[in-house]
Amino acid sequence: MSKKKKPRVLPKFIDIGTSTYTVEHTSDMGTEDSGECETEKKIIKINKNKFPDLDSVDAEATLIHEILHGALHELGWDAYLNDNKDEMLVQGLENILRHIVTLKKEIK
Ligand SMILES: [Zn+2]
Repeated sequence: MSKKKKPRVLPKFIDIGTSTYTVEHTSDMGTEDSGECETEKKIIKINKNKFPDLDSVDAEATLIHEILHGALHELGWDAYLNDNKDEMLVQGLENILRHIVTLKKEIK
């Protein structure tokens, strides 16, 4: 008998600094974007059309990516990062964190 893997679920809320963000796994955002962080509403969305189940490295990286957008906002840095610089910074940090998370799993 094979051991059934428990499907991954998202946390309903994530604290970023002193703010609490709601996390939604939603199919109401088309097919283009993997996720979205609505900093004013404090909502992080993971696109169900792209990630019907969350058990993938890319879904995990998307959550990290959107948390980083929230973090830049909470720290007040997004106001200084125009011309898509926030996206460049978040993308770079996501890649670094993705590597660290992978490394952490390997050394368990
Ligand atoms: Zn982004």
